[in-house]
Amino acid sequence: MVSYKYVILGGGMVAGYAAREFVERGVGPGELAILSSDSVPPYERPPLSKGFLAGVDSEDSILINPESFYAEHGIDLRLTTRVVRVDPNAKRLFTSAGDEFGFDKLLIATGANVRMLETPGAALDGVFSLRTFDDARRLRDASKHAQQAVVVGGGFIAMEVASVLATAGVKTTMLFPEDRVWMRLFSPEMSMFFARYYQQRDVTFVAGETATALEGTGNVTEVVTSSGRRVPADLVVAGIGVVPALDAVSDSGVTIDNGVRVNEFLETGRADVYAAGDIANYRDVIFEKQRRAEHWDNAVEQGKHAARAMLGEREPFIHVPYFFSDVFDLSYEFWGDAADADRVVYRGDVSTRSFSAWWLRDRHVRAAFVMDRPDDERERAPVWIAEHQQVDAERMSDETVPLSDLMVKS
Ligand code: NAP
Repeated sequence: MVSYKYVILGGGMVAGYAAREFVERGVGPGELAILSSDSVPPYERPPLSKGFLAGVDSEDSILINPESFYAEHGIDLRLTTRVVRVDPNAKRLFTSAGDEFGFDKLLIATGANVRMLETPGAALDGVFSLRTFDDARRLRDASKHAQQAVVVGGGFIAMEVASVLATAGVKTTMLFPEDRVWMRLFSPEMSMFFARYYQQRDVTFVAGETATALEGTGNVTEVVTSSGRRVPADLVVAGIGVVPALDAVSDSGVTIDNGVRVNEFLETGRADVYAAGDIANYRDVIFEKQRRAEHWDNAVEQGKHAARAMLGEREPFIHVPYFFSDVFDLSYEFWGDAADADRVVYRGDVSTRSFSAWWLRDRHVRAAFVMDRPDDERERAPVWIAEHQQVDAERMSDETVPLSDLMVKS
């Protein structure tokens, strides 16, 4: 059995950024191992549904650290290694190949698995989900020959993939169960803006419906919807969410509760065992609630934070949730959590491509969406959310009033 001071279970974004942090803080050769079921070193996931899919980003350019980084720093990166069991008492990990690894400190970073379509015909050729590097490579190759695509889902993957396919000239239909696109995140006005933007770029929306069957012989040719509509397609992409990847840790004694439950220090409650990234249901001290965040930024920041914690710097993780997205020629950013907001106000015109949306609760800023706006807005958004800043909601939409004049002392 080989033992290490630090082991990262999972080779995704958390591992890539944690490894870099460990190296920057002087962890020596032979002290750190990454056990990854993936076949490639840790890579950035955002490009998979954006630049990589569009053929702009190369395979090498999306690696978090160059392939040589791990060997150069004496990090034992074990790819295609599936951990099936963790014993926090004995401080051991067991793999499907029958190998055992010892650790002093463990970071659980298994991430999430993609939710697959379960409709009849989901195993036909031409039906894809998108989570891993290999998924993206296969989808990119298939999309080169596609004429008509159906993208199932109305969230991140669906919005981004539909925009890439439509830009490449594939006749694209988005099929989603909500009444309007991105209902969980967007206000009705925002959904309307995006619906129009997509429709103007030849994407058809089928709202309030799901796929009930995929038909074809060999390759998919048609998607049947819940209302009986038949949409021709030689390519189907499902972007219907992810589920925490718990298999390896389900009987390890860590608390399983919508992922692996951790406190604000990213500690699981089992000595020397931490969790970070998509898998971690952590204590968000800004919003005072447990939260599991499935975003790139969360994986990056928690990966670095967990590495520092394992090296003895015990600090709470205090961070405003954040993500960005690029669709067609639009780029937008989102900070915070709009779940308990009682009001949304806009700056700029929501029917144009340049506006921001501010979600407030009792006039305290809870979340912000910013697209093509002055820097002041994107700079203030996370600060105001972190500080529970109260604002003058009545004057917020008046662009002649600078943001600094909207702050109300509480
Ligand atoms: P997602 O954002 O959770 O969206 C899933 C969508 O699929 C929702 O519209 C959902 O509707 C719908 N859905 C669920 N079950 C369905 C079904 N059986 N048939 C049809 N639609 C169904 O998940 P995602 O877009 O698949 O993205 C996967 C993960 O990648 C997420 O964790 C996301 O954060 C991450 N990601 C992030 C970015 C970014 O930050 N820019 C980009 C790409 C991916 P309901 O809401 O009604 O369930």
